[in-house]
Amino acid sequence: MNPFWSQTARELSPYVPGEQPRIADLVKLNTNESPFGPSPRAVEAMQAAAGSLRLYPDPEATELRAALAAHHGVKPEQVFVGNGSDEVIAHAFVALLKQAKPLLFPDVTYSFYPVWAQLFGVAYETVPLDDDLRQRVEDYRREAGAIVFANPNAPTGIALPRAEIARLLEEHRDIPVLVDEAYVDFGGESAVPLIARHPNLLVVQTMSKSRALAGLRVGYALGDAGLVEALTRVKDSFNSYPLGRIAQAGATASLRDDAYFRETCARVVAGREAMARELAKLGFVVLPSATNFVFARHPARGGAELASALRDRAVLVRHFNKPRTAPWLRITVGTADDTTRLVAALADILKTR
Ligand SMILES: *Cc1c(COP(=O)(O)O)cnc(C)c1O
Repeated sequence: MNPFWSQTARELSPYVPGEQPRIADLVKLNTNESPFGPSPRAVEAMQAAAGSLRLYPDPEATELRAALAAHHGVKPEQVFVGNGSDEVIAHAFVALLKQAKPLLFPDVTYSFYPVWAQLFGVAYETVPLDDDLRQRVEDYRREAGAIVFANPNAPTGIALPRAEIARLLEEHRDIPVLVDEAYVDFGGESAVPLIARHPNLLVVQTMSKSRALAGLRVGYALGDAGLVEALTRVKDSFNSYPLGRIAQAGATASLRDDAYFRETCARVVAGREAMARELAKLGFVVLPSATNFVFARHPARGGAELASALRDRAVLVRHFNKPRTAPWLRITVGTADDTTRLVAALADILKTR
């Protein structure tokens, strides 16, 4: 251990992101990136923005927040933007989710939540998903200071209907509830329409998945202006310019190209259904997904074994080595060609031994 580390640095167990290796001709289905590029209009706007990098960006991202407000039917003061939704959620841990009573989140969900809880000293308890890896609203009837969950959930891909979220909100009117909608554009029901009736609801979305801008780092939160004010206070105590000029310009232009957005989302959904059918033919159990990935397990083979055999065949998928997720693989929906290569590799693996 390096002697200069703070107590905080010593005690951390950081989130481990999916690998970004530089292997030629790799089928990369491990980090839920889009197989399609961003809107050509976004690319053009980003190139144009590169001309004015001498100047600091707008610290309030006024234009982007106005575009997001218009897109989601809320007011600009109900919109907060950050450097990826990871940063937005991290600020929410400090601004909203850190309460005297414990924060609740599912036992199987985005594995960054316990990392932020540790970093910011937020006490938490996990709420087990049921035997089918589904979230049950009634399981949250216990002492809580706040609630966070992903919907659709990751890595399961399963979506909770909006009516169920409404039921959860009816039962928890006195504590902040954060819904992480990183994948909602691929078939989930957004909780955004519930914001008007629930001043304790914060909905977080990202441009990384459905808008194919993972490399740009833009995420945002929608909620009551009072919640947004708390996030802004934290942001302005940390970094007043989280979004550069290129990010603000690209994200704004992406929002203005709705036709491209709808078309690429529809293609991912079609690709997901095709991939799920092929996996089922190989004997996989595939959970119903409302995202750009599927969660699948094979009755005869372990998840770690399959992930490693796939890697040997230049196909990368994600495996989470925790007791409840060990049998499963999380596989991103790629192009039709990616799916063909994935299925061929799996068929090859399954016929050995
Ligand atoms: C990808 C992902 C995020 C983070 O997205 P960024 O905006 O790229 O930081 C947040 N939550 C979940 C559940 C995700 O899968």
